[in-house]
Amino acid sequence: MTRPRNHTFQAALIFISVAQLTTALKCVCRLCENNTCETSADGACWNSVMLIDGKEETDKSCLSAEKKNQVYCYSSRNVSKRNCCFTDFCNNENLHLYQERPSEVPGWGKLELAAAILVPSCLLCVGAMLGVCVLQGPRCAYRRAHKQGAEEDLEDTLMAPDKCLKELIYDMSSSGSGSGLPLLVQRTIARTIVLQETIGKGRFGEVWRGKWRGEDVAVKIFSSRDERSWFREAEIYQTIMLRHENILGFIAADNKDNGSWTQLWLVSEYHEPGSLFDYLNRYTVSVQDMMLLALSIASGLAHLHMEIIGTQGKPAIAHRDIKSKNILVKKNGTAVIADLGLAVKHDSTTNTIDIPSNHRVGTKRYMSPEILDDSINMNSFESFKRADIYALGLVFWELSRRCSVRGIHEDFQLPYYDLVPSDPSVDDMRRVVCDQKQRPSIPNQWQSCEALRVMGKVMRECLCAGSEGDGEGDEGVLVCRL
Ligand code: ADP
Ligand code: MG
Repeated sequence: MTRPRNHTFQAALIFISVAQLTTALKCVCRLCENNTCETSADGACWNSVMLIDGKEETDKSCLSAEKKNQVYCYSSRNVSKRNCCFTDFCNNENLHLYQERPSEVPGWGKLELAAAILVPSCLLCVGAMLGVCVLQGPRCAYRRAHKQGAEEDLEDTLMAPDKCLKELIYDMSSSGSGSGLPLLVQRTIARTIVLQETIGKGRFGEVWRGKWRGEDVAVKIFSSRDERSWFREAEIYQTIMLRHENILGFIAADNKDNGSWTQLWLVSEYHEPGSLFDYLNRYTVSVQDMMLLALSIASGLAHLHMEIIGTQGKPAIAHRDIKSKNILVKKNGTAVIADLGLAVKHDSTTNTIDIPSNHRVGTKRYMSPEILDDSINMNSFESFKRADIYALGLVFWELSRRCSVRGIHEDFQLPYYDLVPSDPSVDDMRRVVCDQKQRPSIPNQWQSCEALRVMGKVMRECLCAGSEGDGEGDEGVLVCRL
């Protein structure tokens, strides 16, 4: 009599398990109302702990299906632990980075102590795992097959030896994930890169040129101290639909643990001419070069700022550190926007940004007047975009000065080079930009060339102080920082 019932029960269990795989999960969420959130179909519950200023900070939330395959489910020993799990509220427990060592029991040798602890714990673990697998049998098997099988298949197909990076990235975008290579592929690529030479230094660690299957790649190496920055930059680069010809092409993020410390890598396309800052220091540009560079930088920034609505949509993103050192020149004469480490994403449904914001991030020299004098309206995402446009105006000034017309051009200089010290403070900048209302001057020579005259006009519109719209310029109405 019990048999059919058992069968029905098991069938129901299988049905529920399989059904749950594609439906939403409820998870504990630290920053949500009622501390609960619901994932999209096939999402995961996320649990994490990070070491911040020597203290453990936990975070719990819901992960979407595509984020599940990215860096979110990584753990890097000592610095952070992250778990993804797949049952309702499975992220309830608190993770810890350091386990306390058991105190020694007098009279017991280390071996006996180890045996006394390990044997029962192993038995318990095996028992618990068996129990869980019996209860969730079909689900365990499905998950394993689905996760490992699918990822390995994907890895095999994508990592065929004749594939070059461009093809890999193309395959990836057409395979549907849309936001980045699968985790396993990212790891495999990163771990087969051979570093060649350092090519740059910035806020965090060093940037190297590396070789992957004979192709050049750039590897930004963060120390484990800067894990948050590594994680954040990798996360931003993997925003759905971010990929654009004028935004640095992201390839992989990887955390390599060499036993005693963790090296955090961010792999991207390599651009031999380097940063716009280095390029303009070395070379002058023709009118055509200048227009191509200016147009491509503006296109990259416009794409970053643009919200694309839809399931495969993209949030509006503000860069917050636009400057010539964070723009790279491509061999074809166009440019890409790089260093997305300080970027913020806008959630238009709640009109909020995705991380707690400190408004004075970025490079002081490029800070807009409203950031410098604290009048910025932090509740409007437009303000962040406007601040980017101001910095873009300064980049256009750096670029236009190097435009050579009939052999005449200016030397390379950073904005406000003649008005502030080489490492200016916020006070230095505020005095010049807000109090004295000075802006980089436009050389007379720009009036003799139509393209430079236009660049001067665009630049003035970008640098206009009015943060809420129109202002008067000497050549008619200036629409400030559109
Ligand atoms: P940080 O966050 O430390 O400022 P960036 O991403 O801005 O790091 O990189 C620092 C410098 O490294 C850049 O100004 C540029 O000179 C060089 N660099 C970075 N990425 C690349 C790349 N993909 N190709 C060529 N050079 C690069
Ligand atoms: Mg930088």
